[in-house]
Amino acid sequence: MGMDVYGEAATSEVGEYFRNNVWWWRPLADYILRTHPELASSCAEWHSNSGDGLNAAESIALADALDADLASGAVDAYSTAYAAEVAALPREACNLCNSTGLRTDEIGVAHGYDKPRDPATGRGGCNGCAGVGTREHWAASYPFATENVREFAAFLRASGGFKIL
Ligand SMILES: [Zn+2]
Repeated sequence: MGMDVYGEAATSEVGEYFRNNVWWWRPLADYILRTHPELASSCAEWHSNSGDGLNAAESIALADALDADLASGAVDAYSTAYAAEVAALPREACNLCNSTGLRTDEIGVAHGYDKPRDPATGRGGCNGCAGVGTREHWAASYPFATENVREFAAFLRASGGFKIL
């Protein structure tokens, strides 16, 4: 699943279409909502495919703000802080093996996930957590990157307004 963002009156190819899968879209939209809530406010539904969006003037204003953030290093700073925050989150229990590291249900037994992991071959152990019993926090699946903001700013500037579908 993803967010397909369509330019309404694109002035160049880059403004026609922007796509992030849901994992990438959420942190990008959150960045915009946190740092520029007023510029983003005409679009109420940043987190759904309901066709909400901004008009041409609003899109340019947001592009200007994002480009200023990129130039000042604010996006890089946010990215670094975001990564540190995610890395500091506690690991989560693995529900496939009840945190034992060994998966003893039918599928686990059929694939040998019920045997301890062999470090030499990498075989065995729960396939949900590599036999560790815990997994990365779910938030680790939502990446944020400066380059993604740069791409979205370029899209915004040339979009002529957009809708999120
Ligand atoms: Zn597991």
